[in-house]
Amino acid sequence: MTQEEENIIVPGRWDLPFRHTAGRIASHFFHALVEKRIIATRCPRCRRVLMPPRPFCERCFVPLDEWVEVKQQGTLEAFTVCYARFTGLPDPPYCLALVKLDGADTALNHLLGEAELEDVERMKETVRIGMRVEAVWRDEREGGIQDIKYFRPLA
Ligand SMILES: [Zn+2]
Repeated sequence: MTQEEENIIVPGRWDLPFRHTAGRIASHFFHALVEKRIIATRCPRCRRVLMPPRPFCERCFVPLDEWVEVKQQGTLEAFTVCYARFTGLPDPPYCLALVKLDGADTALNHLLGEAELEDVERMKETVRIGMRVEAVWRDEREGGIQDIKYFRPLA
C-alpha cells in the first residue's frame, strides 16, 4: 500500500424505519408536552434540574423521580446553522439550538425558528449566544419532542 493510493468510495444507503418505547421518563415528559407543559427531573443530591429529563443523575448516580415544571422561555446556549439537507430534518437552512430553559440547569437540543438564516451576515447579527428564546407549540400535539415546533427569539 502506498500513500498515493486513493481511498475507494463505496456507495450505500440505509433506510431503516423502526419503533421503540420512549421509556418511563421520556413518556411522562411527552405526555406533559401534549398539555404544553415542559417538565424536568431534579436530582435529590446535587439539586440540578435536568432537561431533557433523565432517569438518573449522571453526576451523582442516583435515580430521579422528582418532577418540576420549567419555563417556556430560556437562553440560547449554543447553535449551529445547517445549509445541507439531512433526512428527517427541515429544509435547509435551519438552526439547531441548545436552549437552557429558565428553571433548568441543562440545555435542550431543538430548532431555532423565525430567525433570519438565508443571509449569513444578517444571521450573524441577529442570532447570538445568550439571546432569549421561547417555545412555539404545534396546534396538534401527539406526545413527542416535535410538539414544540421550535424556539423563537423573544423580542
Ligand atoms: Zn445529582
